[in-house]
Amino acid sequence: MKKNEIVTVTIEDMARTGEGIGHADGMALFVKDALIGDTVRARITKPKKSYAYARCEEILKPSKDRCPARCPVARQCGGCKIQELKYESQLDFKTKMVRDCLMRIGGFAESDLHMRPIIGMEDPFRYRNKAQYPIGYVKKNGGKKLAAGFYAGRTHNIIEVDDCALTPEINEPIVRTLLNHMRKYGISAYDEATGKGMVRHLLIREGFHSGEVLVCPVINGERFPYADEFVRELLKINNHKERKWTISSVCFNVNRKKGNKILGDRVISCYGDPWIFDTLGGLTFRISPLSFYQVNPVQCEKLYAKAVEAAGLTGNETVYDLYCGIGTISLFMAKKAKEVYGVEIVPEAIEDAKRNAKMNGIQNTHFYAGAAEDLVVSGKFDDQTPCPKADVVCVDPPRKGCAPELIQTILRMEPERIVYVSCDPATLARDLKLLTAQDEEGKSTGYEIRSVQPVDMFPNCAHCENIALLVWKG
Ligand code: SAH
Repeated sequence: MKKNEIVTVTIEDMARTGEGIGHADGMALFVKDALIGDTVRARITKPKKSYAYARCEEILKPSKDRCPARCPVARQCGGCKIQELKYESQLDFKTKMVRDCLMRIGGFAESDLHMRPIIGMEDPFRYRNKAQYPIGYVKKNGGKKLAAGFYAGRTHNIIEVDDCALTPEINEPIVRTLLNHMRKYGISAYDEATGKGMVRHLLIREGFHSGEVLVCPVINGERFPYADEFVRELLKINNHKERKWTISSVCFNVNRKKGNKILGDRVISCYGDPWIFDTLGGLTFRISPLSFYQVNPVQCEKLYAKAVEAAGLTGNETVYDLYCGIGTISLFMAKKAKEVYGVEIVPEAIEDAKRNAKMNGIQNTHFYAGAAEDLVVSGKFDDQTPCPKADVVCVDPPRKGCAPELIQTILRMEPERIVYVSCDPATLARDLKLLTAQDEEGKSTGYEIRSVQPVDMFPNCAHCENIALLVWKG
């Protein structure tokens, strides 16, 4: 097959990343924007030896699982890969994707997994409490136009997005206010190639329960020009919009380094405090711009409730919450455990976690800043605190999963239960294999998978969150 060749193909399956999979001329084709059940005309974009990437040019016969996209740029934008799949079918796709991953990468039999039905969402739009818009230029009429949006898949080309269907409506006037301010005062957008220009990204965060909104442009400089004027313009939105949202915080994140990292280490506050509050499951949390906080609060409450249930707490347990962020899972568990020890690599998040425990009157949590693999493997949370034996270890790592040495240390500790919260089924599969593996003599680690609970935290996107419960059987 050659580049730009046109083929007709029926889509039989879907890849983990959301592309449709079909066969033509004995080759597997990964077809962007084609869904399971579609017959499409596809253009080959990248031929390889035994497979090829292609793009859907025309839908000849639509799948019965198709629905119209809500967003006009759903195909170009790299965010919503499966927006044209009916929500029920999205849930089926994710269930299958998780199962396939665990079986293929983890080497488990389906009957080992004890998979529970995926927990979906009632309204799979406008659920995100955080958005990071790249600010840059798009080509227009032979010239360039200042724009905000999202990157097209696998590139850093900005696709202009006025009103992202996953975020609250208030984001749209906030983005517009920033762009107008930049045009008015001739403030440039950052250019990745040269490292010049001022505004790199716009971070917006909402507290869905509190209604508080934090606006935080990421700048390549020490001072944002005419910041007071910017704040005045932003605050006008508070009067216009429905009372649901209030911009309560405007701050700037300083990032002067080249490279892909969105946020720098420093936050300059400008209006209000450089954080917002939100409530989950009756607990209040302070959230700073640099701290991780789950992006889908409606599903997050369900996720944490399932994690607590999996931990099987009776009140006597010593619990670790590794990769704890601002201490959300720790505080959910603390109400039912003896002591909870949280470890997190971002110091600002640990500050938030300590504050959050105090604010909620919780006294049996302890938080330490550092890499989980460093602290737990060393056997000390800090100079004064040796790691006590844990009865329950909860881990919630980023996509890359847990460091192997951390897994070995957890295994040596032999907690009763391991609750693995994962945002990437592939690394979950890899780590579950290590946690249950048999050695050369056929001796198992002593752990078996009791359940795997998928939770749809990212509707319309191809990602899926899971909670795996492992239990010590000796
Ligand atoms: N459990 C939290 C956070 C999960 S996200 C919640 O539900 O909100 C993963 C977190 O792991 C992030 O806060 C990230 O900063 C942190 N992290 C990344 N690498 C780490 C490491 N090596 N050790 C400890 N924490 C780490």
